[in-house]
Amino acid sequence: QPIEIPDRPIPNILVTGTPGTGKTTTSELIAQVTGLQHVNVGAIVKAKQLHEGYLEEFDTHVLDEDKLIDELEDTMTEGGKIVDFHTCEIFPERWFDLVIVLRADTATLYDRMEKRGYNKRKIEENMECEIMQIVLENAHESYEPEIVVELQSNTVDDMESNVERVKQWLDAYRARHA
Ligand code: ADP
Ligand code: MN
Repeated sequence: QPIEIPDRPIPNILVTGTPGTGKTTTSELIAQVTGLQHVNVGAIVKAKQLHEGYLEEFDTHVLDEDKLIDELEDTMTEGGKIVDFHTCEIFPERWFDLVIVLRADTATLYDRMEKRGYNKRKIEENMECEIMQIVLENAHESYEPEIVVELQSNTVDDMESNVERVKQWLDAYRARHA
């Protein structure tokens, strides 16, 4: 059953992908170049403590999804947001006009996570997530195929071309809604 996507004058974009694929760096650049507002969901979850518990075995906090959606609803309704989060299937479909799934080669991703000081277990979990294309699959299951775009994010050149692509997409969106 198709859902109604609000016809926003300024769109919302989701940048998702396995941790370390470059979501935050890319989103910040996109925000600089386009004037969209970067919404770093991980930082909001941390700052506002939107957790419902802690799983000791996995060394992770359990996200309180309902609280998070409530927290972001007004912001997303405004439009013009670039949302950065490693999970994409928890958000209402109607929030987004474009969903970007960043991808990275396993060796590249491994180096980035090691530099970040992730423990072995977390690195292995995330490597598996990337190899199994979990985020990409979830994006395809959660959003219309024509708004989901998979982009490689291994090099600075990749990042520059990804930012340029979003800029062009945004110009076309604005022209359509002028
Ligand atoms: P995420 O937010 O997806 O976890 P980050 O944006 O924090 O990823 O990037 C993780 C690390 O990888 C950072 O040190 C960043 O500078 C680097 N990085 C991210 N994307 C690229 C890229 N396309 N080319 C080179 N380095 C990158
Ligand atoms: Mn990040």
